[in-house]
Amino acid sequence: MKQNRVPRIGMRVIKTAVAVVLSYLVFVPFGLLYREELGGVLGQAGPLYACIASIICLQSTVDQSVQLGISRLIGIGVGGVLGIATLLLGPALDNPWIKAPVLGLVCVAGLWLCLLLKRPGACVMACILPCVILITGVTGVTRYHYAVARIVETLVGLFIALGVNAVLPDLRPEPGKGAPDLRVEVKNSTKKLCVIGDPVGHSKSPLIQNTMIAALGLDYVYLCQPVPRGSCRQWLDCARFAGYAGFNATMPHKEELVGLMDELDEDARLFGAVNTVCLRDGKAWGYNTDGAGFLRTLDDEGISPAGKRVLVLGAGGAAKAVCLKLAQAGADVVVCNRTVSKAAELCALAPEHLRPAGFDIDTLRREAAECQLLVNCTSLGMAGAGGQFRDFSFLDVLPLNAPVVDLIYAPAETELLCRAREKGHHTANGFGLLVNQAVLSLEHFTDTPIDAAAMKKLLAEKLG
Ligand code: NAP
Repeated sequence: MKQNRVPRIGMRVIKTAVAVVLSYLVFVPFGLLYREELGGVLGQAGPLYACIASIICLQSTVDQSVQLGISRLIGIGVGGVLGIATLLLGPALDNPWIKAPVLGLVCVAGLWLCLLLKRPGACVMACILPCVILITGVTGVTRYHYAVARIVETLVGLFIALGVNAVLPDLRPEPGKGAPDLRVEVKNSTKKLCVIGDPVGHSKSPLIQNTMIAALGLDYVYLCQPVPRGSCRQWLDCARFAGYAGFNATMPHKEELVGLMDELDEDARLFGAVNTVCLRDGKAWGYNTDGAGFLRTLDDEGISPAGKRVLVLGAGGAAKAVCLKLAQAGADVVVCNRTVSKAAELCALAPEHLRPAGFDIDTLRREAAECQLLVNCTSLGMAGAGGQFRDFSFLDVLPLNAPVVDLIYAPAETELLCRAREKGHHTANGFGLLVNQAVLSLEHFTDTPIDAAAMKKLLAEKLG
């Protein structure tokens, strides 16, 4: 039976609605005080631009909202100063042949100033404000009142947006909350796959894999299977007995599985970690798709690591796959990690391409200034208990043409990526890696080539 599903109202919609209502409420007294004969800023002030500012400042996290808020503030400053400066032309502005080119020039100057300040997020306000100041029928001294009123409104909207974002909960549900909607057709012939981990309840793999399986019309089902730490051998026996076609492994099983495989692919051997196991002909075949998934993600983003100097932050499991693949691709990598001994251990696996370093801000700044690609493989910035970078000033010295990649995909834009984007860097989050490594796993399970670009599009809609 076909079900009519009610669309969910997300936190972004709720926050926007609250901000808009607050904007109107704040300006009710201005409306009540309005007297035609008084005119002036008080009489001109209204809620419209406060609402616009509220809407465009409501980003997914408070940190992102603050960053964008600062940009908008700069935009208001630039747009306000330029807009009011044009009013000095006085009655000449009443002539549309003068007003139009002046407005064009002011907008170009605003955009140029914002880009000069490395704040692309400021451009919108730098153009909107002069436009609303100039494109009105208002003339004479009232023009100044009108302009100041617009600026005041926009500032009020900005602070309402920041306040609403700080008070109401974050936009994205924490991982594990809100069960994904999984509907798969299961027949007697359906082959079983799963992801094992401890914990594993938060894993997106069942949603991703079942979505792809359904879209490709494959006769598989993908489950979520908790397996306690240290129990991989027992699980392998169970999986074989139950006729599983294969499984993925996440923390903490990737290393333990290496010694239990009958066959290992080159990457699993290189990384000392297995994330994909195929059970075929009574044998367990171990693969690792993280490294290849990462290189494919760089390729998707148009980033070629060959011959580049790369700064990798972190030296955990994900960093290992990233660094060793970057080394294979001919990059020169410096691995900065809080625990330097772990970075040294990792770099010893390919010393001609990898060099360990510390995680203090002086080291990060020194290395960032020299690099052509930055990859964050730490958990800093991850939703939940990921922690946060204490100092982002290494981004100030990062060359502008260096892309910034973060392996984290929740939130979709970490503070690192947000700041890098604001500064004009090309950025990419961990969603590409998440999908690419999953596609490669499914190719191993099913022995079928899969169109990764189509899957990425499909999954972006499903998970977005
Ligand atoms: P991991 O093995 O636990 O490594 C965590 C790394 O973060 C270590 O280098 C650790 O440094 C560093 N770190 C943690 N807290 C820190 C702090 N307060 N200050 C400085 N450094 C800190 O984890 P992983 O498996 O490598 O995963 C790392 C990140 O990549 C996670 O956020 C994960 O979600 C993401 N990831 C994404 C995908 C994807 O598909 N997109 C795949 C794998 C991983 P120490 O060595 O000093 O502890």
